[in-house]
Amino acid sequence: MRMLRGYLELRGTILFRLPLLLLLVSVGRTRASSGDRSEDFSGCLANCRASGCAFLSAQATKGAKGSTCIPDCIPPASGEAGEGGAESKLLTTAWELRALRWTCNSECKYQCMVQREAAKTGAAPEKYYGKWPFKRVLGAQEPASLLLSLLNLLAHAYGLLSLRRTVARLPLVEGRAAYPYTGLWHLYAIFNINAWLWSAVFHARDCKVTEQLDYYSAVALLGFSLIVALIRALGLRTEAAQVTVSAPIIGFTTTHIFALMTFIDDYSWNMKVCLTMGALQLGTWAIWGVRSRHPSLLKLLVAILGVAGATALEVFDFPPYFGVFDAHSLWHAATVPLVLLWWSWVNDDARYVAQKALKGKDVAEKGKTS
Ligand SMILES: [Zn+2]
Repeated sequence: MRMLRGYLELRGTILFRLPLLLLLVSVGRTRASSGDRSEDFSGCLANCRASGCAFLSAQATKGAKGSTCIPDCIPPASGEAGEGGAESKLLTTAWELRALRWTCNSECKYQCMVQREAAKTGAAPEKYYGKWPFKRVLGAQEPASLLLSLLNLLAHAYGLLSLRRTVARLPLVEGRAAYPYTGLWHLYAIFNINAWLWSAVFHARDCKVTEQLDYYSAVALLGFSLIVALIRALGLRTEAAQVTVSAPIIGFTTTHIFALMTFIDDYSWNMKVCLTMGALQLGTWAIWGVRSRHPSLLKLLVAILGVAGATALEVFDFPPYFGVFDAHSLWHAATVPLVLLWWSWVNDDARYVAQKALKGKDVAEKGKTS
């Protein structure tokens, strides 16, 4: 769950994150951008770190010199400006900034970005540390992507509830549930909800910890989604068969995440791993759907193609409209209906499998009586 944005960000759902992955871009973002490399930004940042006030040079603002002072970061008169530790001081005067753990350093970066962009006259927005200059809302760095990540989360929760309702209405076949994959879809929903939660947190506040949790959650989601695709496509109903298919993927995925947490610092490797898992999953669903002539094949294919189409938004990677809606946030918006469509397909699949099981039972009983 962000790529052509300068790096690849892994987010989205498996299926629905796949596009991201496909372009991907994302697993290692380029931190330096033209905005933060500029001299006027660097000067502003140095001033802010030393004095607690963000201001551009007179030249940068064409004489309209302004200054934004951060009360928490202004050194006491008797103190020594720029002392070590001051940059990491947490802000305390605004509850939303305190809650999201904004520090003097991150606040200085934000205020200098705002000042530099405001001082531009007609020039295009520039990226800072790999991100467009978004307007912060209640302390959240990317408010649109944050809210839309939560909408995706709710869409998965709703999808799971809809499946539970559908399965509850299905008749038992020989005393057993007619749809044997309900438990699997429960776990699938949990992995998605977890991934979208950390996606929302990361969009609220981009820092090392939130970035890693977002990436690890996305990798785990990709791994589990591949397991779901293989188990459903291969029609594995017994625990032994499901474990046989799942074990190597779980082993690989956990090892990969552990490696990312410890000694692998090469995000291009992570990108290749995610691309491969995403492609395998997508290919599995598409090939199986067509070969099995699934009655809801159209929904399945529309979901897959919809993801591909929505991904184009990421490719364009345009700056945020109104300082809020960039290509990435619109991609998150596009995945919400696709998630609902996906769960609608899962519901159809449950009814389809149950129907086949009942037909098979009827045929068997007729055979016994004839
Ligand atoms: Zn995102």
